[in-house]
Parts: sequence; structure tokens; C-alpha cells
Amino acid sequence: MGQKIQAVKGMNDLLPVAQKDFKLTAALWQAFEDIVASWTRSYGYNQIRTPIVEQTGLFIRSIGEETDVVGKEMYTFADSNDKLSLSLRPEGTASCLRAVVEHNLLYNNPQKLWYMGPMFRRENPQKGRYRQFHQVGVEALGFEGPDVDAELIAMSADLWNRLGIRQYLTLEINSLGNQDERAAHRTALINYLQQHEDILDEDCKRRMHTNPLRVLDTKNPALQTMANAAPRLIDFLGEESIAHYQSLKKLLNGLGIDYVENPRLVRGLDYYNLTVFEWTTDKLGAQATVCGGGRYNGLIEELGGKATPSIGFALGIERLLLLVQEFGQLTVNNVPDIYVIHWGAGTNLTAMQHAAVLRAAGLNLYVHCGDQSLKAQLRKADASGATIALIIGQEEQINNTVTLKNLRTHEQQNVSADTVLKLIQDWKNA
Ligand code: ATP
Ligand code: MG
Repeated sequence: MGQKIQAVKGMNDLLPVAQKDFKLTAALWQAFEDIVASWTRSYGYNQIRTPIVEQTGLFIRSIGEETDVVGKEMYTFADSNDKLSLSLRPEGTASCLRAVVEHNLLYNNPQKLWYMGPMFRRENPQKGRYRQFHQVGVEALGFEGPDVDAELIAMSADLWNRLGIRQYLTLEINSLGNQDERAAHRTALINYLQQHEDILDEDCKRRMHTNPLRVLDTKNPALQTMANAAPRLIDFLGEESIAHYQSLKKLLNGLGIDYVENPRLVRGLDYYNLTVFEWTTDKLGAQATVCGGGRYNGLIEELGGKATPSIGFALGIERLLLLVQEFGQLTVNNVPDIYVIHWGAGTNLTAMQHAAVLRAAGLNLYVHCGDQSLKAQLRKADASGATIALIIGQEEQINNTVTLKNLRTHEQQNVSADTVLKLIQDWKNA
């Protein structure tokens, strides 16, 4: 026997059953994907699917070289043929916009898009934080807002409703203004941080010059007073930025969506302006952010397209499903309606034929495979969770009948082949 090979650290298998240290199942995941499909459709957003590997330059240019994601966490390798540097995507917006620009999708045509799939970041694995994780992202390209900003936020709130977890999530919003406003604030902020340099930790000292806004995002308890008293970007906003922000808040109020204004909310990636928002929970420990997004009006131009006002958000599927699994409602449908039992020579073919007819009528059937005693098969039928067992023995075979056993009530009936469906439906509807 060869040595066992294990999955890569921080990358999880999705199994039919929960594991000790990773409780999400593939069935829960699939039920979630079904909801995502109908949810996005109900808002008129179209799916886009892009490759998982992109040229490294795409992420350097969009996310920013100084961010942790690009600077420290990307899986990057040289393509052996042409030495091109490639990376596994750490997020979805860059790839989505690359595709939109490459295929000229925005020519006279704003786009409402969504994507779903694996992302890769080499960070320290822990509950709710993995090296391969999954996101659903939604992007609205070619809209100035703030109406579309409100639509996206309302759309995310609606998803929490559909999953039964709305009450566990809090919406935080902020405005990052435009480039000039941020530059003025940046100067004031660096000034302020320099005055407090002696108390900053190593991370903050490094970020002070590369990405000072991120210092405000620090989770270090010792630095909270300093961060709270720092110059606030919101105080540097001009008339237009303020108007955009006020209109957004008015729309959210009108839609009945509660929010908390957080002047320190800056988001981890470099490309945001004006509206930023996050949905957080206190149920997942340190991994509190389930969904984050914002406006990125300059990004498409940065990637070689025509300047296009745009906004989007991404949610972490693992974090969301951990919450749904514990507190939400999501119907997981991996139990068969009927477990098909057969015993005696030639009955396996008859069983398969009956199953085919019932599947065509829309039922889900698990057909027992292999020879086992009736008793053993009945035990498996019970364990399968099915409500009904369909039994073909020698006698049924000869008389062209089937025996149906209601596994809940233990009622049993022998019926002719052409009335099976009717009885099944009666039992299912009872
Ligand atoms: P965090 O502050 O938790 O590191 P982030 O700001 O890096 O998150 P984004 O890049 O905005 O996250 O990604 C959007 C969402 O994707 C996050 O809110 C989170 O739910 C999820 N996410 C990000 N990184 C991971 C990860 N390593 N494992 C699992 N989910 C993740
Ligand atoms: Mg992160």
C-alpha cells in the first residue's frame, strides 16, 4: 500500500457528510447555489465565468502591489513555456473586469453581472479563513449610482432573508470620496500617524506610508483610541461625494434597510471610492465579515477600458454557510423519495424498470445494488431517510405488482404496477 496523500493545508473537501474540522456539506452548498441562481435571476443579473488562472499583472494593477493579498498571499508561478508570471485568482472582480474589457461588453451597454467560484489566498487557515475559499460576487458596471449602490445593498439583504440569517448580520457603510479628497485626507492622516508613531505596531508602521487608510482598519486593541481619534475621511469629502452618500442613505432608509455608519470602514483592497459597505456578524469569532463591497469608478480604466462608474460586492460562501448551518433555514434535498428493494432472481432488472418510470414522473429513487436479504435492505431503506420503500420480490415479479411500504407509518400495500404512482403521491401528500 502506498502512503496516503493529504489535501493541501487550508483547502477543504466538500463531502456528503460533515467532517470533524470542516462541517459544511456538499448538499448544503448545492442548496445554496440553487438559491443564488434564482436570487440573481430575480434582479436581472447575468452570470460570468472566467478562468481561475490569470496573468499576475492583472492583480498587481487592480488590487495593488502593496496590499497583503497581492504582496504576500498570492499563489504565483512561472508558466514553463514562455516564463509568463501567472497567479491563482485571489478575488473575482479583477478577472470579471478583464473579461468585460477584453470582449468589449460595455460598448453602449451597462452590465449587471455575477460570478461564483474558488479564490486562493495563502493566509493562516482557521475557522472561516481558508487558502482555497469561495465567493459569490455581484458587479454593476456602467451606473453612476447611488440608485444602483442601494440596489446592490438591498439585494444582499434579500439574500440573507432568503437564507434565514438576516437578523444575525449588521450592515456598515461609509464613503471614501474621490481621489483628491482621499489624497488630502491621506496627508493629514500620515501627519497624525507620525505623531503617534511610538505606539504603532509593526504592521501599522509599514502601512503608514504604503496604505495609511488600512491603519484605521487595525484590530489591535491597544490602537483603538488612536484610530478613533484619527482624521476622518468623511470630514474631507466635497459636496458631490457628500450628496452621493446622503442619497444612498435616503434610499436605504426608504427600503427599510438599517445600517451603521462606520467612518473607519476602508476595505482591504485598494480600488474603492465613494460607497463602501460590509455585512458583519458576531457569531463567527474573529472572521466577522461575511460580505464586503464598494464602488470602484477608476478600475475599468486602469485595466485598459473606457472609464466606467462601477460597484460590486463579494461574499464568502464558507462564512455565510457556517452561519446558515447554525442559525438559518436552507432546505437540503439529498434524501431520496423512494428506496427500491429487490430480492430474488431477475428482480433487479424489474426494479430498475420501475425506477425509470417513476423518475420520469419526477421522483427521486435510490435503487439498491447487489444481493442482500430483505431485512438488510429494509434497514438501509430506513437509514436512507426515504419515506417509501418499493419492494419487488419473486411474487411481485410474477404478478406484475409492487409492494409499497410507508417507512413512516409502516403501512404496507401490494398494488398493480399501473397504480403505483397514484399511491406514492397519496402517501407523499398525506
Ligand atoms: P477579511 O477582513 O476577513 O480578511 P477581506 O477584506 O480580505 O476579508 P474581501 O477580499 O473583501 O475580504 O472578500 C470578501 C469576502 O470573502 C470576505 O468578507 C469574506 O467573507 C470572504 N473571505 C475573504 N478571505 C477569505 C478567506 N481566506 N477564507 C474564507 N473567506 C474569505
Ligand atoms: Mg483578508
